Amino acid sequence: MSLKIRLTFVQMSILGGILMLSNIVVYASSSVILISQVDRTLERNAADVINVTRASTEGGVETIAELSLGFNVFMQVWARDGSLKGASANLRGFSQSLDRVALQTSEPVFRDVILDGIHLRVLTVPLIVEGRPFGVLQVANNMAIVDGARQDLLTALIVVSIFAMGFAGVLDWISIQNTLNPLEGVTAAALQITETNDLSRRIPLLGPPNDEVGNLVQAFNLNLSQLEQLIESQRRFLADVGHELRTPLTVIKGNVDLMRRIGEMDEESLVSIEDEVERLTRLVGDLLLLAQAEAGKLPLEQNTVELDTVLLEVYRQAKVLAKDQIALKIEEIDQVLICGDRDRLKQVLLNLISNGIKYTPPGGQVAISLSKAEGKAYLSVADNGPGIPEEDLPHIFERFYRAEKSRLRSRDGKGFGLGLSIAYWIIHNHQGDIEVTSRQGEGTTFKVILPLEQDLSSGLSESI
Ligand code: ADP
Repeated sequence: MSLKIRLTFVQMSILGGILMLSNIVVYASSSVILISQVDRTLERNAADVINVTRASTEGGVETIAELSLGFNVFMQVWARDGSLKGASANLRGFSQSLDRVALQTSEPVFRDVILDGIHLRVLTVPLIVEGRPFGVLQVANNMAIVDGARQDLLTALIVVSIFAMGFAGVLDWISIQNTLNPLEGVTAAALQITETNDLSRRIPLLGPPNDEVGNLVQAFNLNLSQLEQLIESQRRFLADVGHELRTPLTVIKGNVDLMRRIGEMDEESLVSIEDEVERLTRLVGDLLLLAQAEAGKLPLEQNTVELDTVLLEVYRQAKVLAKDQIALKIEEIDQVLICGDRDRLKQVLLNLISNGIKYTPPGGQVAISLSKAEGKAYLSVADNGPGIPEEDLPHIFERFYRAEKSRLRSRDGKGFGLGLSIAYWIIHNHQGDIEVTSRQGEGTTFKVILPLEQDLSSGLSESI
């Protein structure tokens, strides 16, 4: 059974239940009101009859004044011995008691009686003459009109309920249809996406955006976007890895072919093969490191690291790289203690500083500074090189990303576009942050922010 039918059925059952309950209440209370009105009339009639009736000397009853009871009201006076002593004009010739069962009653009693197929409401009142029980007075009302009214009320209630149920059923069906139709759209779109493998499709938002269905559609579309990005980044990653592997393999194969042709070990070819194997080894190492870092499983030592000492070491190494072509200088250096992995942090510094040297044209400068403030260490590497195009900046920390101008391999021909990605993950695994600002033609500045050792340990002890 479809959800629409189930929901309509449930709503109709609830409505049907409520209507039935209210009909019972209306019918029962109307009946009670009608019957109590009849009872009041019977009581009044009985009182009127008693007022104008006297026991005669012969033991009968006589009426001392004219009384009009209405054609629907019947009256009888019965003596204690069971003889009929008087009756209303409309009962002339009728010798049966209006309510035989109540003849011996000692107090007023109302009863419903069916007499010759006629429904009567009978009030039996005991009569006392001169302090002694004389007999009973029975006053009855023909209930045909009341029964008819009750029957009409019941029919009206049933007919109105059926119409109300029908009308509500149609409205229900339409509103459920309107609410659930977008869900069918979600199902159809999801199936189409599966069939066509096209993750760029989105489910159209037909209804209001903030109701449950709207939220579901938006959440589904968000999932699709993330899935699309993930698959696209996997595809790009495979293409990038393939591309990076192809160049060294082509070089190696070319050199092997050359040596085979000339029939001897050519020293130049061997050096070239060695270079490319080294490059491949680095690539595989970087990829493994990145995979571990991205999964949060990068094995990091937690030692006290004198970041200023590490920086000086890197500075000395980078000086060799910079030769006389780039002015490499330390503008400020504070004593900074970090808790972390010395080798990994050194790798980050080396990457940032060697990038500065690599991408800055001869004659340029790279300025380094290390300072601390408010529990944090601030390292900046600023060059006055060509800068990074604005459109590349948001992607600079992505795997294999190389800004357009450096795509043709940087000056040393060694870059894979993985260095900054690895730096990003190493810094983030040290609870730090890395930022870049750059203006084309003016230069680039990388800033690394790391928590100082005591700050980290006090933070840790607080959290323990
Ligand atoms: P690569 O090994 O290619 O240097 P990185 O991940 O270290 O890889 O850098 C990614 C890209 O960021 C580089 O290819 C280059 O386009 C750009 N880049 C990094 N540092 C600088 C810089 N100091 N100046 C200009 N461009 C830079």
